Amino acid sequence: MKMPKNQRKYCPFCRKHTEHIVEEAKRKPRRQDTRSQRRFLRKMKGYGSFPKENPKGREKPTRKLDFRYKCTVCNKKHSIGEGFRSKKLELTKVGE
Ligand SMILES: [Zn+2]
Repeated sequence: MKMPKNQRKYCPFCRKHTEHIVEEAKRKPRRQDTRSQRRFLRKMKGYGSFPKENPKGREKPTRKLDFRYKCTVCNKKHSIGEGFRSKKLELTKVGE
């Protein structure tokens, strides 16, 4: 799916409609200091298998998109609602 990279959206910081740059959220590394992550690491130590096997044959052909909208006036980012599913994303420049 094609999507324009520059969009006019409401900025909650400027409290008005401004030009925004759309970008996909990047994956952050997993936190290592949570209780569940410590439990997982303890389980993975030594002998024994992975805590839970991944279900097979259930791969999804699409993924859910996670957008961040960056205001060009105040340079702050915000997200709007939930993303939608798409196989392939292409951010296009306006006027091309
Ligand atoms: Zn703004």
